[in-house]
Amino acid sequence: MNDYIVRATAAGNQLRAFAAYTKQTVEDARRAHNTSPVATAALGRLLTAGAMMGSMMKNDSDVLTIQIKSDGPIKGLVVTADSKGDVKGYVNNPEVMLPPSKAGKLDVGGALGHGVMHVIKDMGLKEPYVGQTVLQTGEIAEDLTYYFATSEQVPSSVGLGVLMEKDNTVKQAGGFIIQVMPFVEDEVLDKLEENIGKLPPVTSMLEKGFTPENMLETIFEGMDVEFNDTLPTKFYCNCTKERVEKAIISVGEKEIRSMIEEGKPVEVNCHFCNTNYTFSVDELKEILKKCKK
Ligand SMILES: [Zn+2]
Repeated sequence: MNDYIVRATAAGNQLRAFAAYTKQTVEDARRAHNTSPVATAALGRLLTAGAMMGSMMKNDSDVLTIQIKSDGPIKGLVVTADSKGDVKGYVNNPEVMLPPSKAGKLDVGGALGHGVMHVIKDMGLKEPYVGQTVLQTGEIAEDLTYYFATSEQVPSSVGLGVLMEKDNTVKQAGGFIIQVMPFVEDEVLDKLEENIGKLPPVTSMLEKGFTPENMLETIFEGMDVEFNDTLPTKFYCNCTKERVEKAIISVGEKEIRSMIEEGKPVEVNCHFCNTNYTFSVDELKEILKKCKK
């Protein structure tokens, strides 16, 4: 199964939903950043949520960023997604190792600790939308549920899961976001709560071979789910040497001059995909000329 997001509604548009399968996306992120298992789980959960939240935006140029700053050993993570299913991200400390949680799971909450989450939506307006919340558990799904309720005033249920193989590659990854519309009837809400109450963890459903559609069918059992469309999702970074060159120009003439005086090639790293771009002294001299224009 290739990675994709499905968009759906249920109970005659009283509920809307997104579900995703993201195994390859998370594995590609793991490989790019060489993340430890708990860092892979944290990043994978946020990438999965980011991909779905990105798909909620309308325009091709809209960009969503979720930024977590925390005091735990992972120190924080950043995910950026567009509306077309492309998502990228990184963790500040990819090597973090922790003993399993009491439930025997990867201790994502322990890795994150206390902190704040910013959700930034750049939709081409003068000012981007910024929502800020305090981390509730650091497990990411609960933190996003809290974010939707308090910052966007949309009651939601978020489920995210990443399961690792014994060799520390990604075995399963996926998740869902269910959102309740303001005109929802009480019976619909009661039925949804009942269904979610008995829902197995996302990783258990994926292990059973559930597709994103199957997950939503289970969540919306007896509630007339309607699938609207699907879109592929992937770990993708749009960095290029030209873009990095622009970033160098922005540090200013003085800084570039001192790089040239060092007499050595300069390596610039893209945080999002961990690609290194090397600029020779001659290339730096060319860049300096562009600064003066
Ligand atoms: Zn990149």
